Amino acid sequence: MTSDPDLVTRRARLLGPNVPTFYDPPLHIVRGEGVWLWDAAGRRYLDAYNNVPHVGHCHPRVVEAIARQAAQLNTHTRYLHEVILDYAEALTARLGHDLSQVIMVCTGSEANDIALRMAEAVTGARGIVATDNTYHGNTTAVAALSTRRPPIGGRPDHVRLVPAPDALAPLGGSRDAQGAAFAAHVAAAIADLKAAGHGFAGLMLCPAFANEGLPDPGPGFLDDTVAVVRGAGGLILADEVQPGFGRLGTHFWGHEALGFAPDVVTLGKPMANGHPVGAVVARPQVMAAFREAFGYFNTFGGNPVSCAAAMATLRVIEDEGLQENARVVGDHLLGLLRGLSHPALADIRGMGLFAALEFHPDHAATCAAAVEGLARRGVLTGRVGRAQHILKIRPPMPFSRGNAAQLVETLEGVLGGLE
Ligand code: PMP
Repeated sequence: MTSDPDLVTRRARLLGPNVPTFYDPPLHIVRGEGVWLWDAAGRRYLDAYNNVPHVGHCHPRVVEAIARQAAQLNTHTRYLHEVILDYAEALTARLGHDLSQVIMVCTGSEANDIALRMAEAVTGARGIVATDNTYHGNTTAVAALSTRRPPIGGRPDHVRLVPAPDALAPLGGSRDAQGAAFAAHVAAAIADLKAAGHGFAGLMLCPAFANEGLPDPGPGFLDDTVAVVRGAGGLILADEVQPGFGRLGTHFWGHEALGFAPDVVTLGKPMANGHPVGAVVARPQVMAAFREAFGYFNTFGGNPVSCAAAMATLRVIEDEGLQENARVVGDHLLGLLRGLSHPALADIRGMGLFAALEFHPDHAATCAAAVEGLARRGVLTGRVGRAQHILKIRPPMPFSRGNAAQLVETLEGVLGGLE
């Protein structure tokens, strides 16, 4: 594993402490292709974690689309241009019911910020409910829901957090009871917001609970909750930044897999294969209310190059059958992972090309050692969970059975050497 101490020092001096890296020592990656990355010394790594290069690092069709559009025109978003319309048409065609209008942005944080304001605009209320172990982005409004660091001065009073589903300790005491238990927590939070005078604007959640540690509560988990939210007049805001675009294999969107129809969908990370693109998709009535209450303009969101990158990414997902690949390879990977054993392992689960190896929460150090050990052996993964005790696998979508075998064999070797 090659790092570069000079770059580490320069980075600390010039960027300060706010741009953290993965792995110890941090990797100096200089090239990518498909599911592979190369460091400056020419060593190759299997990327089993990066969901930004969704259709594979440096996919030639996305590279070509970016280069072609950049050579022709890139500018702010105040002119008429076909490519944003072509993309909006293609994107909304993938979304069911009446989610038919799009705001293009540059990050998932911006998308979620808009979604919160849409809920406010529609309901005239500010109260928001989210889970107590999540991350939805870094604007002031969105960071108020993100639980990694409590905001300075405490969490704003219009935000209520409900217990996230948890694979090891299901809400309500069992897998079957957890949907009703979650809905009861949401109902109590809504009642509390109303009693405090904030009213209720909506519930924001990731339908795969990706930052919560992929607890996989199963289809129907949100049925009771959706009824509670709708009964209270709020909007359901689905943060599809991680599960969207086919990663779950069985479904193109996380909300489809969980079986509910959100009012607003937010998108980001994988959407343009690394080009900074996000979006908010909503019904025309929601868009109109948002326009009326807030107005919106984004200099870069939806520029021709970004839209060309997003369009090429969507076409590659379709043309290369990457959703189906996620289903087939994901099932195969899960089968291999379930063959692993280690005394500190508590649960192994997955959905498509998302998998989680949950260690007992008091064995977070073993999880950390596994992630570092894998990186030293050329396989890149990551960690999530309340105690950072869950090893998370989330590779680019062209991940193959052979890649899965390499990952699991390497993991077996790493786990074998850990107490
Ligand atoms: N939502 C979720 C579920 C995320 O995981 C993230 C980023 N990790 C965001 C939103 C924020 O996206 P961005 O970093 O593009 O602002």
